[in-house]
Formats: sequence, structure tokens, C-alpha cells
Amino acid sequence: MDNFTLTHEEDSLFRDETRVTAGSAARSREGPRPCGTSTCEHAEEALSSFLQHKAFAPQKRKPYFMAEDKPPGPILKPLVFRVDDSTPKMVQSVLLERGWDKFDEGEQNVEDWNLYWRTSSFRMTEHVNIKPWQHLNHHPGTTELTRKDHLAKHLKHMKKMYGTPLYEFIPLTFIMPKDYNKFVAEYFREKHVLGAKHSYWICKPAELSRGRGIIIFSDIKDLIFDDTYVVQKYICNPLLVGRYKCDLRIYVCVTGFKPLTIYIYQEGLVRFATEKFDLSNLQNNYAHLTNSSINKSGLSYEKIKEVIGHGCKWTLSRFFSYLRSWDVDDLLLWRKINHMVILTVLAIAPSVPFAANCFELFGFDILIDDNLKPWLLEVNFSPALSVDCSADVSVKRKLIHDTIELIYSQGLRNERMECRDGAKGSRSVSLAKLDMGRLNKACSALSCESLLQLTGRTFKDESAVKKAIKICPENKHASQPREMTSRKKDLLLSTKEPPKTKPKLKGRHSTHKTLIPFMSLIQSCVGKTSISPCLPSDNSKVPDLQAGNFVLIFPFNEATFGASRNGLNVRRIIQELQKLMNKQHPHMAEKEAKRR
Ligand code: ADP
Repeated sequence: MDNFTLTHEEDSLFRDETRVTAGSAARSREGPRPCGTSTCEHAEEALSSFLQHKAFAPQKRKPYFMAEDKPPGPILKPLVFRVDDSTPKMVQSVLLERGWDKFDEGEQNVEDWNLYWRTSSFRMTEHVNIKPWQHLNHHPGTTELTRKDHLAKHLKHMKKMYGTPLYEFIPLTFIMPKDYNKFVAEYFREKHVLGAKHSYWICKPAELSRGRGIIIFSDIKDLIFDDTYVVQKYICNPLLVGRYKCDLRIYVCVTGFKPLTIYIYQEGLVRFATEKFDLSNLQNNYAHLTNSSINKSGLSYEKIKEVIGHGCKWTLSRFFSYLRSWDVDDLLLWRKINHMVILTVLAIAPSVPFAANCFELFGFDILIDDNLKPWLLEVNFSPALSVDCSADVSVKRKLIHDTIELIYSQGLRNERMECRDGAKGSRSVSLAKLDMGRLNKACSALSCESLLQLTGRTFKDESAVKKAIKICPENKHASQPREMTSRKKDLLLSTKEPPKTKPKLKGRHSTHKTLIPFMSLIQSCVGKTSISPCLPSDNSKVPDLQAGNFVLIFPFNEATFGASRNGLNVRRIIQELQKLMNKQHPHMAEKEAKRR
């Protein structure tokens, strides 16, 4: 049986669920807006033939109810998703697989849908008119992060407000044409310092994605721009794997800005250049750019390449496993990435307008240098969800499943709280239950032990992890065995075949044998706070710690939980983060103290 078909058992369990229809009050529908952001990767994505594969074809769902097994209670109807031409086919296929129905304009009322997922952002009126049973996959105001020039502007502001060391993770950036004179001054200053040595810069259009229009240059004479561009310090000492440059695609879901709630996905993609890194030829995009849209058309894409093998992508877990095999402290690296994500989202969070029932899935592009320092290159709006290779298959499909699970598990818990508080469960939450119900039954409880075994490693403090998992009943349901199994397999595979070439590293961290990246923050959360996700003392809605492979990274303790309610106290949050960072990377704190 393929992975995507319900077993007889699952199906009958599924059919036992109570179903409530989406809202039916009519309202006028507005058409989609153009994407309007440079880093909206999906906009022109051609769907590969992969999607034609049987596994991706929507499975025919069985009818939920036969006349004889219809339980007493409300009339049962499946959840309804709404799409437009830009919606990734993978999203539709996952939703169908989860038992959702596709919205049909001709047959359904204009408001009879629960989730609208599209590539472009929504109009403010669409946000304002959202119904309690509906969700949108974009939050207003997030292009402030996803346009390269806006991101640079916000991070520069944060640097000014909260200090350079904290916000040192974005390469020095100038926005053209506005900062042209500043850039020229910096270019010549550096040239003077370096003498005969070259300095390297990269020039990127602010509003394009997928590597389009990028130039890398050493001589200012080669700088050309005709619109809004960013000119950025080119990281010329990237971590190389088998002499190939790579960067990480990290998925982050912000389920709300007010209060700020950030989840990181503990699986992701590593994207490789397909020709060997070579600073003597800056024109070779196959050696300097890691976009798969570029590399998949190169001659070396199909070639079996040193260490990285065929194609141009790995899963993040394979990459971490590779680093571990060379004694790299990947827990430390993962923590730095987590902090970088929080600091980045904080840069725009106070200025984002409030909007209910929406979320944003971001794709963070992060480059690691040979000192194991992560650099933020950009944040993508609507990160690509097309499928080109096996790494895409194993990561993206689960990512969508887990995103739906994250949104709906939160809804389910809110419903419980509303019920406890005496409110009538809203329709939206009743609907949330339906989607969860399938997973809860089909997956059964994932024991703490199996989660621990997943890594094949031991923990410094297993009891804290156990507590984290026990503390909230939802966690039992949050992971899908199918996904976990494949992750486990992935890890096993990568440990079975140790890579033969050491990564080219200057800085080497000490071995950290107790690594499991995603657990680190749960541990710190449970260890340092009295937040109980199930029993909030003040009736506030405390977010789940985990849903599928998503892990809560903000708020991360009681202080940040408090500082993100009733307005966002950014200074307080930064103080807490700084404390955490000093504890987690003490050598950096020492360096900073010396610098002062
Ligand atoms: P796009 O939106 O076009 O994908 P990115 O900023 O992600 O633009 O850049 C594309 C690729 O160029 C990255 O994946 C990375 O390989 C490379 N790159 C971008 N900025 C830098 C930089 N500052 N230093 C080194 N490489 C970079």
C-alpha cells in the first residue's frame, strides 16, 4: 500500500469523526493580488513531472459516511480548502489526502471554505472580513521581511537599537541607488585595507528571486544596477562540502504576530552549487549560486559529485549528520540559527498589523561559513513547494502536513480553552478537530521513547524531554509515524554511509554527542519556565510546544511569554535572548566582553 492511502482501519476511524460544515453566509469575493515580493519563489514555478507520479496524484477519498454508520449529531461535511492558479499542487494534494474538499465556486457558498492557501498575499479587506472558521496562509505586512531591501533596512535599524554583535548575522548590505555613495566609500576603504587582495561583493535585485539578475564582482566597474538592488558583502569563505558551496533552507511558521508565536521546522533542505567553488571565476553561477532553479539546468546536475552525490539537494538531517560525523557541534549551530530566526522576526513584529486566523510560512536562506557562523541571506515569501528530487519529496510533503497540523492543533486547543471558559466552541475549532481527529487516530500516541530513539542518541537530560512531551497531551498526537519513520531512516542512512571527505572548516567546535537540534529549545523551555501549555495560569492561549516537526522557538520562557502579551516588549525579549545566548554560547559572550 502506498503511504498516501488510508488503511481500512484508519478509514473507519476517520469516518467516525463528527463533521460540521464551513460557514455559509455569503460575502463578495475579491480576486488575488499580484505577489508583490521579490522572494515569492513559487510564483512562476513550473510544476515538474514528478507531480504526475501516482504518489502525488490526489487519492480518491472514500465517502465519510454510509447511511448506516451516520452518528447522531450535526450534519457531517469535510473541511474545505480554497486555492487559485498559483497554489502549489503539493498543497492541494496534501489537503485532499487529509480528507479536505476543494472549494467549488459554482456549487458552494462564497464563504463555505476553511483554508485559503495561495502564493500571493491577501488584501487587507480579505483579512478584515475573515470568518471564525476560516484561515489564510499569509499575514499582512510580512513582505517587510521578504523583500531584500526591506529586510536590510529593518535589520540595520535593530543593529542600531540593540547592538552590532547581536545583529551581526546579515552581511554588510547597501540598498541601491540610495546607498550608492556609502557603498563606494566602503568599497575604497576596504580596498585600501586589503591592498593587493580582492574584495568580493554580490549585487541582487530587491524584487527578484531564484538567483535571477544576480552578479558577483570584485571590481566596482562591474557593478551594474538599474532598479532597486542590494549590494552585499559576498561571503567568500563558505563551508564547502566536497568543495561545493551550499546553503540551508530553513522553514519557519509564524502562527501569529500578536502575540508573537514562532515555530521552526526541524527538517529542511541543503542546496548545493553543482560546480566547485572557485573565486577566480565569479561569473560561474553554477559554482557561486546555490539556487536549485539554476543548478538543475547545469551540466553537472546529474553527475555524481564528490561527497554530495547526484543532484543538488540534501535534507537538513543528512547535512547535520554529515557535520556530526566530523565532530562539528551541530547543536550549537542549530541554536545560533534559532536565535537568528527570532531576532529577524522581531525586527518587523511590532509594526505588523493585527490579523486574526492567518499564518505565514517563511523560507529562511542561511549560509554557513568555514568558521561555522550562520549568515542570513534572505527570507522567502511562499517558499518553493515544487518537487524536483527525493530530498524535496521527503521534506516538503511532510512540511505541508505539519503546517496544517500546527494551525489546526492550535485551533483545537483554543476550542478546549473556550469550552473550559464557558464559551461555545466556534465552528472553526470544531472543524479543526476534524482534521486532527484523523491524525490522532491514524497515528496513535507517539511515545516519548520513540521520539528519543529517533535520534539514536542519548540526552543530557532525558527527563526534561520526557516532561516536555508529557506536559501537553497534544504532543502525543503531534507527529505522524510515517514522517518520523522516514526521518529515522534518513538518519540511519546517513550514519551508515559516512562521508569520505571532511568538510573544509577552519573553526571546529568540540564534539557534542548529545545533539538533537529540535529538542534543545524544548529542553530550555521546560527547564527554565513554569509555562504549562495545558494549564495557563492567566487563561491566555499558550502555544503548543510542538506540532509534527514544528517546534516552538518563541516564546521560549516565561519572561518572553509575558513580554509578548499585551504589546511586544522587544527590549525585554532581546535581554532574555541575550541571556540565553550567553548561556548557550559562552565563548561568544567572552569574546564580546573582551571586545568591550
Ligand atoms: P534569490 O532570491 O535570487 O534566491 P538570494 O539572496 O537567496 O537571492 O541569493 C541567491 C544565492 O546567491 C544564494 O542561495 C547564495 O548561494 C548566493 N548568495 C546570496 N547572497 C550571498 C552572499 N552575501 N554571500 C555569498 N553568497 C550569496
